[in-house]
Amino acid sequence: MELIDTHCHLYDPALTEDIDEVIRRALAAGVSRFYLPAIDRESESSMLGLEKRYPDICFAMQGLHPCSVKADVEEALQHAEQSLAGRLFAAIGETGLDFYWDRSFEKEQYRAFHRQIEWALDLNLPIVIHSRESIDQTIAVVREHQKGNLRGIFHCFNNDEQSAKKIVGLGFYLGIGGTLTYKNSKLPEAIREIGLENIVLETDAPYLPPMPFRGKRNESSYLTYVAEKLAQIKGISVEEIAHITTANALKIFSKA
Ligand SMILES: [Zn+2]
Repeated sequence: MELIDTHCHLYDPALTEDIDEVIRRALAAGVSRFYLPAIDRESESSMLGLEKRYPDICFAMQGLHPCSVKADVEEALQHAEQSLAGRLFAAIGETGLDFYWDRSFEKEQYRAFHRQIEWALDLNLPIVIHSRESIDQTIAVVREHQKGNLRGIFHCFNNDEQSAKKIVGLGFYLGIGGTLTYKNSKLPEAIREIGLENIVLETDAPYLPPMPFRGKRNESSYLTYVAEKLAQIKGISVEEIAHITTANALKIFSKA
């Protein structure tokens, strides 16, 4: 069984101390590739350092997280843009809109999101989208740019069926993670009618661990718990889930 963790912050300080063990456990569990979303300039060198340490299995993205959009947004975007000109990244991201923590840079969040979508189109790269308390606004921005060439993932999707269908209608994938396993989660219902051809798996490690690890540190080996829960919901084998979601991930991140 082969799984791909399409979204994990394995370079996060919470994981650095025993990262070799974390990766060894994930490989033993069948997780063969790790896609590392960028957050900001401060964490970039640890992300690139990890990619260098594991060049065949860890793949870095480039971008600016909406929660990292502050008054220095222009400098941050310029930095990312220069970096993108210098080498090939797996994707643009993570980018998007987050109105949960702080709306004081809302205008700048929009500007950064639009700009990063333009990069994705120019460079023919997938885009990895973060949306919190902003799903309608985020979908509207994607719709505005979707002329058939934009592709990517709504990472950590945790909204309702209507939003899921809109995202799939835009040709995007849903990144499904640990929240699927939570008691009282509405996510199983929201994705009941969504085809597996529009789903990829992620941990978002070190955040949002699946049951029974809720409240603890998340790591990529726990991706099997998400795959098993999805298999249960869809009424098919976990091997089949792995086969389809892995093929989806490879398709998204390969140069189209
Ligand atoms: Zn993330």
